[in-house]
Amino acid sequence: MKLTKTFCLILAGLLWVLGLYLCITGSFRAGIPPIIAAMLIMSASRKTPHKSEKSYVKKGLWYVVRNYTVILLCLASLVGILYRNGSTPAEWLKNAFVKEESTSASSNPAVDHGSSTESIQLSEETQKDPTPNTANGIGDSGTEANLSLPHIPWKEYWDRYEDFTESYAKQQKQALEGLSDTELSSLLPVQPETGNEAAENDTGVSGLEIHFLDVGQGDCTLVMCGNEAMLIDAAPDNNGTKIQSYLTKRGIHKLRYLILTHPDADHIGSADVVISKFQIDQVFMPDYEKDTYTYRDTIKALDTQGHKPCMPQPGSRFPLGDASFIVLAPITPAEDPNNNSIVIKLTYGERSFLFSGDAEEPEETSILASECDLSADVLKVGHHGSKTSTSQDYLSAIDPTYAVISCGAGNEYHHPHGSTLNKLREAGIQLFRTDEQGTITITCDGETITFNCAPSETWQSGS
Ligand SMILES: [Zn+2]
Repeated sequence: MKLTKTFCLILAGLLWVLGLYLCITGSFRAGIPPIIAAMLIMSASRKTPHKSEKSYVKKGLWYVVRNYTVILLCLASLVGILYRNGSTPAEWLKNAFVKEESTSASSNPAVDHGSSTESIQLSEETQKDPTPNTANGIGDSGTEANLSLPHIPWKEYWDRYEDFTESYAKQQKQALEGLSDTELSSLLPVQPETGNEAAENDTGVSGLEIHFLDVGQGDCTLVMCGNEAMLIDAAPDNNGTKIQSYLTKRGIHKLRYLILTHPDADHIGSADVVISKFQIDQVFMPDYEKDTYTYRDTIKALDTQGHKPCMPQPGSRFPLGDASFIVLAPITPAEDPNNNSIVIKLTYGERSFLFSGDAEEPEETSILASECDLSADVLKVGHHGSKTSTSQDYLSAIDPTYAVISCGAGNEYHHPHGSTLNKLREAGIQLFRTDEQGTITITCDGETITFNCAPSETWQSGS
């Protein structure tokens, strides 16, 4: 009896597995007979253990095991069939027979044509309603529209999908071919403006404006003369968006010059953003390389935009609107980056402005030795007011009325240093500081120089 029972169970199990396998991977109809046979065997073996067992508990257990096994196997089959058809329970039976017909059709070359016809009909039906899923919030693209087409066994799904998308694309192409150029251009996305013609400035500046941006511990100076603009240095990293916004708000799309005085991070940190966001006519950099991420990022941005930076010869003069500037330094190559700073003197009408970069005493000495005219009304103090810069001789040669120090409040270098502040104070120079006063702006009509704020009176060195 045990042998019979075990044999029946094994046989039924094997038949069930075979039926399930055929249903999932092959023909649904081929899989049904083994499953029915398995169910019959299980049913036929039901009575024997009933009678042989005396214990009601054992009888009950056996009964439950056999019946629940059948139920579980039925559920497993259902899951397998649903998995194969990829549809809802209500549709599985219908889908199973659609699959059956398609499978038998694919084995017959004559019906292959019918199968593709069916796909075309499917596409045409879909095309009658160009937005079949809009009501469901799915959208109206071809890909998503196809998702609303059930009753397709998954093995055929992609074939039909390709037919559908191909047909959809043809329809779209035909529709577009019937449009005029004007109608077509109105459908195209707006392209970002490129090229020289697109990047004209509209600064609204009639004379000269100089903006010493508050960028923390670093330099970034915007010079505008009429509609022409120049940026001297590009601040530390993470100021790119700020600079971009500042320039854009002032109608600047194009820089005639970008001067990166030297490759320290507090001067070129955000240069990559400026280079990538603005059209630039000329980029000036000293012939000095640094092995830093910031420097490499800057060079990479220059390469990407096709810029070839150059170091103009000292004594060269360049126009900026009605103003012009002369390059004073670097004259001789130095070991450290600060003393390779590009130093320029800008002249507008009767007024002049000297931008010292981070030049320290050695570079100042070489500038003095060149015997150029250093006199200026405004001095952008070298190296953020460090004691290593602004030697007495250099300051005396410039003899400015105003001085501007660009540095960050509480910076780690304690800029500006007390000794520099003392020199400026003793010379009676009016001092403006970005760490205390934020962004400092100068307007100049060629004679009068006007600041946006009163001079700093603190004479407080960096803490
Ligand atoms: Zn610096």
